[in-house]
Amino acid sequence: MSFPQSNESMGDGSWISWFLGVKGHEFLCRVPTDFIEDKFNLTGLELFSRALDLVLETEFDKQGWDEGLDTTDAEELYGMIHARYIVSPRGVEDMRLKYERGDFGSCPRVYCKGQRTLPVGLSDLWNHSHVKVYCPRCNDVFLPRSRCAMLDGAMFGTSFPHMFFMQLPSMRPHPPLEQYVPRLYGFRLHQKALMPPEAPESTPKSIASSASKSPYLTASIPKSLPSRFSRNDLNG
Ligand SMILES: [Zn+2]
Repeated sequence: MSFPQSNESMGDGSWISWFLGVKGHEFLCRVPTDFIEDKFNLTGLELFSRALDLVLETEFDKQGWDEGLDTTDAEELYGMIHARYIVSPRGVEDMRLKYERGDFGSCPRVYCKGQRTLPVGLSDLWNHSHVKVYCPRCNDVFLPRSRCAMLDGAMFGTSFPHMFFMQLPSMRPHPPLEQYVPRLYGFRLHQKALMPPEAPESTPKSIASSASKSPYLTASIPKSLPSRFSRNDLNG
């Protein structure tokens, strides 16, 4: 397996430095080796005991390593430990530095005015979905506009941004003051006009009732139709 390296330094030659230097891994922070070596932090990850040796490898020779080496297990193990680390006080502090530097991008909503975002997973399980970014101003999630979009969401987990602001409450921004208002020639659109038309149904009874509910009709159709008014007339 070969990965393009980012411009970041390869660091100390360890597997972790190599992994963090891969392009598209910029959302990830460095998990200290003492956190990885603590058996308590590896609960439930015992199946990855062989991958642990690779994750902790300090002399991962960047030139001489086997290009065919399968690092998948090591990546999953590091990702799962990473999700645990970033909700710890030390991890929150590491991620705060990245957040303040703008490593995670900004909210695309106009009225969020470039609010910085935090990475979040939509699942805590591996291989369920890619990472998303959470905006603390509008409380919504978006696709990351960066090459990190392919990272597994479980590397961050579903709780991270909420733990972040629980530990750093003063960093939570105010909700947006303005909201987009859809207008047509200056007039606000009726709430019903913002909904898709109801699906046509086959029974004559529902045709009359759904037609009368259409937001685009000003006059409602009488419930008892005149006999000369056939079903075909209604369908147009
Ligand atoms: Zn936003």
